[in-house]
Formats: sequence, structure tokens, C-alpha cells
Amino acid sequence: MPSRIFDILGVSTPEENAPTATTGIHPHSSDAFVGYLRRALDFPDEGLSQAARNALAQLAHSGVGSADPQSWVDQYKYSGGSHPSQVTVSPSRVEGALECPLKEFLNSAGARDQQDTIKAEIGTLIHSIAEAFPDGGAEQIRAEFERRWGELSVREDVAGRRLKASARKKLEMLIDYLNSARERLEGREVKTEASAFGELEGIRVSAQIDRLESEGGGNWRVVDFKTGDYLPAVSSAESNPQMLIYQWLVNSGAVKGEKRAHSIGAHLIRMSRNVSRYRDDTQREVGASGMKLAEEMIRTSAALLAGPHLEARVSDACHTCRYFFVCPAQGGKRVFE
Ligand code: SF4
Repeated sequence: MPSRIFDILGVSTPEENAPTATTGIHPHSSDAFVGYLRRALDFPDEGLSQAARNALAQLAHSGVGSADPQSWVDQYKYSGGSHPSQVTVSPSRVEGALECPLKEFLNSAGARDQQDTIKAEIGTLIHSIAEAFPDGGAEQIRAEFERRWGELSVREDVAGRRLKASARKKLEMLIDYLNSARERLEGREVKTEASAFGELEGIRVSAQIDRLESEGGGNWRVVDFKTGDYLPAVSSAESNPQMLIYQWLVNSGAVKGEKRAHSIGAHLIRMSRNVSRYRDDTQREVGASGMKLAEEMIRTSAALLAGPHLEARVSDACHTCRYFFVCPAQGGKRVFE
């Protein structure tokens, strides 16, 4: 049976007796139409492929980006081995890479949908309030939240109001934590968004630590705020990669201005709409074995992320993965290039 492409291009089929009447093909998007034309480029009939070439050139000229051969990534030559030799990781990238290198790569490339973006904006707002008000103060914090909420891309509809109610609940948990920390710390120093830069065997490790609370004598408590609703098992905190790397950075003298610092433990302060109070998941002070484990995680994640092959690691996390329907592992393969 003659291809539908003959109808689209308006040229006759090469076969004798082939029908020439239109079959009523209506590609429902310009990209689909471009796809038909690109297939026609490879047809042995020179008249047909030339007609397709002309049509693609016209489309590209009139602004259809997908018709421009420059955008056909499947035609690019493999750039073999040109990936950078020096890898930079952050604690969250280490954790993401260990869970699934492909998912981490897609996340870092910005392959997010609108809903993810809004959740990230809310998380950023709560984190920046935590940075601006390290000593708490309910009234100022609530006022700042209301003032800045309008800057987010949340709509004024039912779903938007639900998001705001959930964000307010998390804000109250933050206030609760900051106020109780102020009482506990009795005026000792707090650093917010503390920069840290470490290096291990040529691998750069950089981080912004949400909060460091001084216990005096160069001892610091690491605090990381989480605003996601998912609550993993409390017991997983002891081996949490992000917290281990934060502690490794502190003990390695990588925190800016704190060469002789010592970590006395890390705390994940989880503010989820699924709980009524923040949850404090604690990781004890790392010893020599914890430092070694952190280094092993850094090496492994750097190797996993260096490419050009990226492993798709199937786990329970696949059920909630936003890339499930495009993931090669779900189709039987395990590697993405
Ligand atoms: S579906 Fe699973 S294997 Fe695929 S990218 Fe997501 S987490 Fe990785």
C-alpha cells in the first residue's frame, strides 16, 4: 500500500496503478508533519525525497523549528569522550545519582513539569525565609510569607489555595523549629546558607548548607530543611547520603571560614503536610567509618554521572518517578546514552 507521505507531498506514487486520490491525512501538529517529511527524505524515489526536502526548507524558513536540520539531534555525530574530566557534585546530586543516575541527570537538566516547578518555588521561599530569620519570630515570618507569596507562579484558584494552605502549615513548622532552636542555642552562633567547597581525588564537592548551629569550641550541628511531603522511614537518616556528605564537608574543613570545624551530627527537619509537627530525622556524629562511607559515595556518584552512559536503576522509586513513561528501563533496556 502506498505511503501516506505521497498524499502529503502532493506527488504521485512510483507504482503503476497506485491510487492518487487523497486519503484524508491530517497530521495533527507541525512536528508530526515534519516527521512524515523526514521519513520521505530516505525514500529511494528522488522526486519524492526532493519534494520533501523542499517542503522542509519552506517550513524552516517560515519558522517551524523542528524542520530545521540543526535541530535534528539524532543526526548529530557522537562527540566521544568530550565530557569534562573534572566532575562537580553536591550532596543532593550524590544522593540522586546513587538512587538513579538517569533520573538525577534528567532532573539536573531541568526536565521538570509545571507542578514540580511550583513545588520547587514554594520550597525555595520557605528556605529563604529560614535564611532571613535564623532566630525565628512568628509575626515577622508570617508577614514575609504573605508578602512574597504573590511572587510565585501559583494561580488564584482552588488548587492554588490548597497549595497555599499546605505551605502555611509548613511555615508554622519552620517557626516552631526556629523558636525552639533559639531557646536551646542561648545566643550561640548560627550560620545560614553556609558555603562549603571540598575536593576528593579531583572530584569537586560543593554545597550550601541550610543551617549550622554552633555548640562552641568549633563544634557544629548540621541542619537541613526538607519541604517535600514524602516521608521516608526514620531509620534511613543514619545512612542518608546528603547528611553524610554535609558532615564530611564540615570535618574536612571545607566550610568557608571554618577550617577546624567538627560536626556533632546532622538533622533533617522534615516539614510535610502529612504530619502535624516537623519531624527531626537525626544522623549521629560521623566517625572514621562514616567519613570513609561518604568518600565512597562521592567517588561512586561522580563515576555514575560522568557519562556518556547513564544507568537507569529500577527501584521502588520508579512508581512515583516522573520519567517512568520515557524511561528505557521500563522498556527492557537499562542504559541511556
Ligand atoms: S523510572 Fe526508575 S529507572 Fe527510570 S528514570 Fe525513573 S527512577 Fe530511574
